[in-house]
Amino acid sequence: MGSHGRREFGVVLSDEKDTAVKNAAIKIVKIAIREFAVPCPRSGSIDANSGYGEASSQGIEIHQLIQAKREKEDSDYQAEVKIAREFERGEYLFQVEGRMDGFFDHQTPKIEEIKSTFALTKLSVTLSENHFDHPYSLQLQTYGYFYYLDHGVVPELAFYLVSTRNRESEEMGIELDIEGYEAWLELRLEELVEQARLAEKRVARRKKISKSFAFPFEKPRSGQIELIETVEQGIKDNQRMLVQAPTGLGKTVGVLYPSLKEALSRGQRVVYVTPKNSQHTVAEDAIEQFQNTGSPVKSLTITAKSKMCFKAEPLCNPTYCEFARDYYTKVAQNDLLTELSKKKKLTRRTFKALGEKHEVCPFELQLEAVPEADTVICDYNYVFAPQSALRRLPPMSFAQEGKPNLVVDEAHNLPSRAMDYYSPSLSSVVLSYMREDIRKLPRRIGKEAEELLDECIQVINGNKPIGATRHTEVKLDLDEFVKMDVKLRGLLSKYLESDIEIQPKDVILKLTFYWGSFTDILQGITESERPEFFTTFQPHPTGGVVKITCCDASEMLKSAYDDFSQVVAFSATLKPFDYYAKLSGLKESNLKVAEFQSPFEKSNRKLLIIPQISTKYSDRERNYSRIAETITRISALMPGNYVAFFPSFDFLEKVLALFSLPAGFQIVKQERSMHANDSEAILEHLKTGAPTVVFAVQGGIFSEGVDYPGDMLVGAFVIGPPLPHFDVERETMRKYYDEHYEKGFDYAYAYPAMAKSVQAAGRVIRSEKDRGVIVLMDGRFLEASYTQSMPQDWFKESARELVSTSILKEVAEFWEKPV
Ligand code: SF4
Repeated sequence: MGSHGRREFGVVLSDEKDTAVKNAAIKIVKIAIREFAVPCPRSGSIDANSGYGEASSQGIEIHQLIQAKREKEDSDYQAEVKIAREFERGEYLFQVEGRMDGFFDHQTPKIEEIKSTFALTKLSVTLSENHFDHPYSLQLQTYGYFYYLDHGVVPELAFYLVSTRNRESEEMGIELDIEGYEAWLELRLEELVEQARLAEKRVARRKKISKSFAFPFEKPRSGQIELIETVEQGIKDNQRMLVQAPTGLGKTVGVLYPSLKEALSRGQRVVYVTPKNSQHTVAEDAIEQFQNTGSPVKSLTITAKSKMCFKAEPLCNPTYCEFARDYYTKVAQNDLLTELSKKKKLTRRTFKALGEKHEVCPFELQLEAVPEADTVICDYNYVFAPQSALRRLPPMSFAQEGKPNLVVDEAHNLPSRAMDYYSPSLSSVVLSYMREDIRKLPRRIGKEAEELLDECIQVINGNKPIGATRHTEVKLDLDEFVKMDVKLRGLLSKYLESDIEIQPKDVILKLTFYWGSFTDILQGITESERPEFFTTFQPHPTGGVVKITCCDASEMLKSAYDDFSQVVAFSATLKPFDYYAKLSGLKESNLKVAEFQSPFEKSNRKLLIIPQISTKYSDRERNYSRIAETITRISALMPGNYVAFFPSFDFLEKVLALFSLPAGFQIVKQERSMHANDSEAILEHLKTGAPTVVFAVQGGIFSEGVDYPGDMLVGAFVIGPPLPHFDVERETMRKYYDEHYEKGFDYAYAYPAMAKSVQAAGRVIRSEKDRGVIVLMDGRFLEASYTQSMPQDWFKESARELVSTSILKEVAEFWEKPV
C-alpha cells in the first residue's frame, strides 16, 4: 500500500454544539494522549525516563532527524499522524487526541514511537517489563488500540529508542494486549470522571469567589483606583500592559486585584512572578489581605529546588534519591493531591512536612499542587527560563475559559534576566578551581575526570585568537564542545553507576552541568541564524573565558506569554516604555502603557541635579573630592540616614578615601560580596536612629527591592548613571540595537543605567510621612537619553528645573519648612 496524502485516524471529534444536540447534559473534556495514557493509579519514580515529563528540545530534534530518515527510506511511512477517539463516561465525553510519531502503511500496519534517552539500556529494560505501568508503553498501546477500533486490524507496535549520548539506537516491538488495555481503559475513564468532577468544582469555586471578590481595604489609596480601573480596562480590551507606578500607590494589590478577579471569573488562576525569591513576600502579603477580608483564594508559593531538596544534590533519580523512588506511587497511595487541595496556603513548610512524612520529593509536590492553587507566586525562572517547570504541567483545562493571567513584578528586570538565561560562559579559571575537588575523588574516577578537565581547558584556550590581549568576538566550533560534552556525560554515567557517594556541590555534577548548559545553547544558536546572539573570548593571564551573549531575548519571552490570557508587567521604572516593550517581547499593536504619579506631596521631596559634577571616566579623578565634599555638606544640614549610591565599587572606594564624616555621623559600606546576614545588620542599624551615611552601589542590594520605611532614610545621593562597561560585548550589543531598534547607545548604555539610578532615587520617599533629599550628580542627567527614563512627576517641562545655583541654601530651606 502506498501513502497518499496526509492521514488522520479515528472518529471526527464532535464540537460542543453537535454533542449538545446529541445529549444536552453531556460535557466535553478534551485531553491529549500524553496526558491520557498514564498508569492508573499513577505509579513509578521521578526519573528522566519516567514518561511524565516533557520532551527536551534535544529529544525533539532527534525525533525530527529520525522521521526524515524514515521518510526517505520508506515511501509508505508517514510522520506525525493524527489519531483521535471519543469515550463517553458518566456525564462526560472525553475527546482524546494525539499524534503518532510514525505510521507505516504496510500489509500489517505498523505504528512507531520514537523515544530518546540518555540511558538507552535502562529505558529498554524498563519498557520491556512494564506494559501498563509506564506512560510510554501506554501511549503506544493507545495509538494501537484506537487504530484497531477504527480498522478492526491489530497493528504492529514498536519503539525506536535512541541515545542522546551517542545516537545508538534499538528497535523494540511490543504486543497490543487488547484485553489488558481495555481493563486499564475502564479504570482510567473512571479516574478521569473523578478528576473532571473535581476540576468542575474548582472552577465553580473560583467563579463564586470572583463574584464577591472584594477589594481588601476600606478605602483605596489615592491613585490606586485609577490603577485598578486602568488594569480592568486593559483586560477588557484584551491588551497586554506595561504599568509604571511608584512606591506608595499600593501597586501590588492594585494590579493583582483586577487580574485575579478576572482570572477567577473564568475559573482560572494568576501566576505572579518576581525576579528574586525575597520579593515573594510582598505578593504573599497581598494575598493574605484578600484571604483576611473573606475571599478564600488558595495560594501557593514555589520555592527553588535547591532550597527544597532533601539530598546533598538535586539529582533526581530513584537510584540516588529515596524521595524520587516510587514518588508517583507514594503520592497516589497516600492521596497527597487531595490533602494538598484542602489547604488554603501552600508554602515551603507544608511541602517539606509532607515530603518528610511520606518520603516524597517536596519540590515536585509543589508543582503538582499548581492546578488547585488560585495564585501561584514564583521566580521568573518558572515562566521564562528555557524548559521552565510550569510549562510541563498538563492542564485539565475542562470548564475553565482561556488561560491563566500573568503578573510580572519589578518588570524592569525582565529584559536583562531573560538575556542572562541565554548567555552562559565557560571559564578556564573556574574549571581550574575544580581540580582540587576532582583530586579528592577515588582514583578510578578522579584520573579520567582530571584528564577530561584538562581537555575542557584546552578547548576553551584553543579558541583564543592568536595574539589576542583583549575581549574579542570569535566564532566557536560547535563540534569541539559537543564532543567534550559527550565525553563528560559518559564520565557522569560511570560516576553515577559507581558506589561513590554524591557530596553537596558535587564536582562531577558541577563540571558536566557547567559544560552541558553552555553546549546546549551553543547548539541552539549554531543551528539557526540568530543575529541576537554572538560569541566572544576574553583572555586571562592563565587562560580565558568563552561566552555566548544574548542581547535580545524578546522572541523567547513572546513564546512564554502564549501560555497566558492576560499579561500585566509593572514596576516603578519602565521608561522609556518603548524600550521595555520591545526587549520584553511585549511590543505589539495593542500594548497598553500607563504611568502613575507618586501619591505623596511633592513638597516632601527635594530633588536636585548637580550638573557641575562629572562622573565620566575621563573626569572622575578630578571629581572624587567634590563628590565627597557634596555628600558631607548636604548630610550635615540634617542628621539622619543617607545612602550614597555609586556606579561601581572602585568608584565608591575612591570617594570613600577622601570622605570626611559630618559631626555626629557614622559610616557603613556595602562590601563587594556580602552575606544576607550582614546586609540585614546594616538595615537594622539604620533603624537605631544613629545618623549614618551608607556607601553603596547602584543596582545592588541596598538600591533595589529594599524598603526604608519611616525615618530610615532622609536622603540619597545618586552619583552618575552607572553605565555598563565599554567593551567588545557592549559594543556588539550597541551595533545590534542600532540595526534593529535604531537606538544603539540608549539601549546598550543609557537606559539600563537609568533603570538603576531611578530605582536608587526611589528609596527615599516610601510613605506619605517621609521627607527627604535626592541628589543626582552628573551633567548627563540633563541629557535626553537619560531624562527619558525619569518619572513624569520629577519635573514639569525639563530636567533643568532641578538644577540649583544655591544648593546648600535650598536644601537648608527645605528642612526648615514646617511639615
Ligand atoms: S529530593 Fe532532591 S534529589 Fe530527590 S527528587 Fe527531590 S529535588 Fe530531586
